[in-house]
Amino acid sequence: MYDILIVGSGPAGLTAGMYASRAAMRTLLLASAYHPSLITTTDLIENYPGFPEGISGFELVEKFREQAEKFGLECIQDDAVSLEKTSKNSAPAWKVTTSGSSFEALAVIIATGTEYAHLNVKGEEELTGRGVSYCATCDGPFFKDAHLVVVGGGDTAVQEALFLTRFARKVTIVHRRDRLRATGILRQRAHDNERISFEWNAVVTEIMGESAVTGVKIRNVKNPEDEKVLKAEGVFIFTGYIPYTSFLHGILALDEGGYIVVDAEMKTSAPGIFACGDCTKKLLRQVVTACGDGATAAFSAEHYVNELKGTLYGT
Ligand SMILES: Cc1cc2nc3c(=O)[nH]c(=O)nc-3n(C[C@H](O)[C@H](O)[C@H](O)COP(=O)(O)OP(=O)(O)OC[C@H]3O[C@@H](n4cnc5c(N)ncnc54)[C@H](O)[C@@H]3O)c2cc1C
Repeated sequence: MYDILIVGSGPAGLTAGMYASRAAMRTLLLASAYHPSLITTTDLIENYPGFPEGISGFELVEKFREQAEKFGLECIQDDAVSLEKTSKNSAPAWKVTTSGSSFEALAVIIATGTEYAHLNVKGEEELTGRGVSYCATCDGPFFKDAHLVVVGGGDTAVQEALFLTRFARKVTIVHRRDRLRATGILRQRAHDNERISFEWNAVVTEIMGESAVTGVKIRNVKNPEDEKVLKAEGVFIFTGYIPYTSFLHGILALDEGGYIVVDAEMKTSAPGIFACGDCTKKLLRQVVTACGDGATAAFSAEHYVNELKGTLYGT
């Protein structure tokens, strides 16, 4: 029986793990065996305080892990598949099941983050890994002197398009609106970059190619008859995210997008379950806010566990 079990090893989960272990809670963290934290797919984070020169996502997460393990956090690689109520010596507890094991804890912190949304158009699935990608850092270097298409207009799409200009001859950003949603400094850099061009008010309707991507078909959203083909060797898709919360349906209150509803103390609708980071309903999904949420969730969970054990300071 653990005091606190954390699901997810991104910035939110690892920060929660550091706070919980440092508070002498017996804490286990389940890290996905299949999907790394999304932040490890970017080569440069320049808005996390303390790193004025920037740092790669992979390096930052490794630092988080090292710091949490220093305080005794136990980490294993296993994906949670279900969560159910149980009890220990009449105290309420939770059981988390993975494909081969199960673990019990008095409190659980969900920090499962999100995965990339797919376009769900013809050619996308068939050509994934053969020109269709969701990770510029992983796949960008394969596209030296190529023409690439980036789909999306938010921070991630623009940041990754800028990164891809290090390799590609030309990067076309296809965006369904008539201007970028990305933050000012990224917008300015994209507009100033001569390798970047834009297709406004456009959506991708098909990714073309037999054994590798040869182009994308785009349609103008204002004039659906206006369709054209952009020749390209690669397509990078950054059109949004889907929270990893499908195993929590019916257990926790989720919003219409599947994000976990939490209060300011990171409490969910179920007593003893806390949530933090990108998988929660919130305004800003960034590393710095994920870490803040993680610290709050661990503090709340610690308070909850001490209350159950009758060891709360002041009682
Ligand atoms: C390309 C890109 C660039 C970005 N750039 C920046 C930036 O410059 N600055 C910034 O602040 N933010 C940036 N972000 C956003 C940042 O990545 C997220 O806000 C941050 O990673 C959220 O942390 P998290 O811990 O909530 O989730 P994540 O980092 O996504 O970690 C969640 C982890 O939980 C795992 N998991 C899911 N389900 C389970 C399960 N059932 N069992 C076990 N584990 C599970 C996931 O696989 C994942 O490893 C960027 C994102 C992307 C995609």
